[in-house]
Amino acid sequence: MMDTNPCRLASIMRRASAVHHATAVALMIALSCVRSLSAQSISASARCNRAPSTSSRAAPLASDSIPCFADILSTLYGYAVSPDSVYEEAVRQRERIEPLLAEAGRALFGGGLTAKETLRRARTDEKLVMRDADSVLAAYSSRLEQARTSAKSLFKEFPDAPITVRAIPREQAANSAPAAYSRATNASAALLLVNAYQPGGIARMNVAFGTAHEAYPGHHFQRMYSDAHGVDGRYNPDAAAFTEGWGIYAEQLGDESGLYDHALDRIGYLTHLLDVFIALQIEVGMHARGWSETQARDTMMIVAGRAEVQALAYARRHSATPGQLASYGIGYLAITSARERARAQLGDRFDVREFHDVVLRDGSVPLPTMIKHVNAWIAQSRLPSSEP
Ligand SMILES: [Zn+2]
Repeated sequence: MMDTNPCRLASIMRRASAVHHATAVALMIALSCVRSLSAQSISASARCNRAPSTSSRAAPLASDSIPCFADILSTLYGYAVSPDSVYEEAVRQRERIEPLLAEAGRALFGGGLTAKETLRRARTDEKLVMRDADSVLAAYSSRLEQARTSAKSLFKEFPDAPITVRAIPREQAANSAPAAYSRATNASAALLLVNAYQPGGIARMNVAFGTAHEAYPGHHFQRMYSDAHGVDGRYNPDAAAFTEGWGIYAEQLGDESGLYDHALDRIGYLTHLLDVFIALQIEVGMHARGWSETQARDTMMIVAGRAEVQALAYARRHSATPGQLASYGIGYLAITSARERARAQLGDRFDVREFHDVVLRDGSVPLPTMIKHVNAWIAQSRLPSSEP
């Protein structure tokens, strides 16, 4: 996660109606969960209170009214899930991604690098970090057109509208992510906001996957698809997992469409995907398995290769905003699982462009709605053709 996360920190400075706004969305999820739990709060709390921790440094509960984390997870999924099953899936995903990242690291750097060594080097090697604003803006601008072009083969229609690369204001740089998306308003075209003044610079590996996530075929394109189908584009907090899941899935589409034409691009994509599932593991660890802040910090340092100060900051974010960072992995898994199910059931009839149309044409929807639409499409596609 997620200093490489394109939407998270920028969300602090933008209104949810204008910018993809992971923090605010997650808080809305939590709040809507509180409301929906009002009639069952006692049983819900009894079901998923965190186990008592023996550590004196355990993260405290924010208050007695903190929404039950199992219910936050179930709200994100759209059906009842156990935190333990989510935790186990997060670990499985990590174990799937780490060898791929290590392989990509060895391809670029040589030697016998591990996944952790690869991502640490890609984040800190001076040659792989941009420190002047003009270079950062130019890098994203260059990738924007490339991302648009490479995405076209993946969709049966390609609704589009201008999107402009612009620097996040210098005074907001320290608290902002590398990039964020701001939809068009009456005063401005859509924006790919870039943290050109971020202290410490921007790792080059962030650029390609960040452009896929925010612009094509990520948030901007999803927005254009909704508009083209007349869907209400107002932010739907119940669809946060879909929206951010599509953003992470868009990063995978960048890999599949050839956008990542340098080994460093692929390291960036895999690093962010690994971050997504480390975040999911830590979320469940802290809010359902009694992890202390220290355990979360250490996991960030050992598994994600973060510096101690940064790892502690993330641990505190996880503690304060349950469900926020979990939404990315949950949405990604729902979309990729639906695609694999469709491919398995349709065989030669499977067309990824049709799948994407089914997923996007109703706008941002709760995950069960997306799954229902995909299942109906699979069933319809399996019917004998009426054509002679
Ligand atoms: Zn996003």
